[in-house]
Amino acid sequence: MKGSLPGLSRKRSASRTSSDPASSSGDVFLAGAPVVLVSGIVPDRYDPAETPLQELRRLVETLNASPVAEITQNLKAPVPASFVGAGKINEIKRSASALAARAVVFDNELTPAQQRNLENSLNLRVVDRTELILEIFALRARTSQARLQVELARHEYMLPRLRRRWTHLERQTGGIGVRGGMGEKQMEADRRRIQRRVRDLKRELARIDLRRRREVSSRGEFYTVGLVGYTNAGKTTLINALTGSSLFAEDRLFATLDTRTRLCRLGGGLEILVSDTVGFIKRVPHSLVESFLATLEEARSADLLLHVVDASEPAFRHQMEAVEEVLEEIGASDIPALVVFNKMDAVGDGIIARNFLWRRHDAVAVSALAGTGLDELRSAIRNEIVSSAPEFHVDVPLADGKAIHFLLTRGAVIHSDTDETANLMRMIVKMPRHIFDHFRRRFPHIPPLGGGAGA
Ligand code: GDP
Ligand code: MG
Repeated sequence: MKGSLPGLSRKRSASRTSSDPASSSGDVFLAGAPVVLVSGIVPDRYDPAETPLQELRRLVETLNASPVAEITQNLKAPVPASFVGAGKINEIKRSASALAARAVVFDNELTPAQQRNLENSLNLRVVDRTELILEIFALRARTSQARLQVELARHEYMLPRLRRRWTHLERQTGGIGVRGGMGEKQMEADRRRIQRRVRDLKRELARIDLRRRREVSSRGEFYTVGLVGYTNAGKTTLINALTGSSLFAEDRLFATLDTRTRLCRLGGGLEILVSDTVGFIKRVPHSLVESFLATLEEARSADLLLHVVDASEPAFRHQMEAVEEVLEEIGASDIPALVVFNKMDAVGDGIIARNFLWRRHDAVAVSALAGTGLDELRSAIRNEIVSSAPEFHVDVPLADGKAIHFLLTRGAVIHSDTDETANLMRMIVKMPRHIFDHFRRRFPHIPPLGGGAGA
């Protein structure tokens, strides 16, 4: 059992001295398992072009589980004890047993009691939407900060559900060894251990957060672009395509950058930083948005956001709305954004995407995989700087190569000429004010000649 279905076997093989109940990491949750998908309440706003469980199916497939049946019901309100009613539970049970399903995945958030009661009636693992999204985040977490955040969120999810785990185990083992007081005692020990770990994790995350804030602000000397987008839109593929080999490992500054922030050359000498962020998902439970806020710091501190959209996805408009909602929630909706329609190679005759693109003047069409449209994207970013950043006039002594280099690489130079008699390079450059402020601090002997209007 272990190894083949580790996400499931976690409970079955659990012994009282087993590893931490809240961390299944290292194992692939539900991988390979046939699962039944259930929606008890269909959300108000779902794409009418989609079936209600289409998105859940994709999320489950992300974890390599195989949906074998879809059961929906549109309740006005959940049944308090078990979310869905007895009739529905029987239907799920019949279907799960006919198709040898190993777990039931709900598109809704379940209370610990509902989840426990459902597991008891179905005699199957029951996963709710929060747990599913947590597992996807766990799969995608790359930085140590993201991994710790996932661990913390998992523990917090697990705490009120310990009883469920123990009831389940009791049933699995026929109650041997975990009967009565014994189970209670173990549960109490688990609870204390998890609470201790939660405290440690919070402390460690606070420390990382502080260090990260310093890092992010030290990047203030570069124009920073944050990639946001629905999960699977192609953000990581795009950052790789855009930055390719332009990473300077030996440069002092880049020692402090994590793997998800990279240097990108826009042409004309201009260098910017591009940061990847976690993928966004529809209806992210609020508790999860809270715990991942710090990871989204990258997006919040960007000069420009690239909203990456999978144009080959029929529900792309709803995915865009979901992303816009999260941006609103994290306070990033005022940051200028360009829409990037990705996967254009897979759109084919996708009339809808093409029409939409045609109407959005702020959209650029690319294929991160095929490498098409990237030059257009680079010039769209440059145009954004030219059209919206304030303008600064500076006369730099010709001998001051470092200052000239700074201005040439960190902003869009819209005019420069050399005054041989005065030994000066007269420059007009457009850059966000925070970059110019950095220039002033670094080269205090060079006086600005005004400009900066409209900043
Ligand atoms: P992320 O979750 O937004 O970071 O998405 P990824 O970069 O991990 O990409 C998700 C999937 O989409 C991967 O299988 C990529 O190979 C695929 N993908 C990314 N860009 C393109 C593209 O331009 N065209 C096609 N056909 N597939 C792409
Ligand atoms: Mg990614």
